[in-house]
Amino acid sequence: MSSEKVSATPFAEFLTSSPPAGGVYVTNLSFEQSGFSYRFLSTPALTLHCSACGGARIFRYHASQYATNNPIIGTVQDNYFLKYRCSNCVKEIKHYAIAAGLLKDQQEVGIAYKYGELPPFGPYLNPKLINMLGESADEFRKGYQCETLGYGVAAFTYYRRVVVAQKNKIFCEILKVAERTNETDAIKETLRSAIAQSQFAKSLKLAKGANLGTFICGRAQSSYRAAYRPQ
Ligand SMILES: [Zn+2]
Repeated sequence: MSSEKVSATPFAEFLTSSPPAGGVYVTNLSFEQSGFSYRFLSTPALTLHCSACGGARIFRYHASQYATNNPIIGTVQDNYFLKYRCSNCVKEIKHYAIAAGLLKDQQEVGIAYKYGELPPFGPYLNPKLINMLGESADEFRKGYQCETLGYGVAAFTYYRRVVVAQKNKIFCEILKVAERTNETDAIKETLRSAIAQSQFAKSLKLAKGANLGTFICGRAQSSYRAAYRPQ
């Protein structure tokens, strides 16, 4: 590689925001220490979600219980297993498996490749959402994982399964509202038919025929007016 300037991602951003199976130019990859002729791999503090603390916290490099020395890095690509620990609760651990090496003519810039991380890569999912999804939670997680990795078709397949599984749950809840608010028999009967229909497309077509959108919007508007009625 020549001395031309390369567009590089800060190493901390690479760790927290780059999905696995991707190699990129990174900067702030190494640092020097007085008394040593070689350079060390940087291990910047990271802001990550900590499930033990229930929010974003600072995670710091934690090689082991006894050693916190940073690994040496050179111009030859090498493999690194980085262990980070939440500085607040000192319980939650994050692992990264990467390969990295410095460019020959640049001290802090190199190429890094992420093999994987644990807990897996992906934005934090609110536990309330996971609870609400019930037995579909696992499929949703997989779909979300695929989406964050850029696997759109696979994500669509998982999400579709979630929607199919949730279909009756949603229609049952709408039916409960329809019964409580004395909606017309036609709407309630259509909802029951949509719930009984095993084929997803036909079920939706039935529900669409009942003009549920107007019904739901009407109910939502009534609830809103009741909730925000001037005192
Ligand atoms: Zn924590």
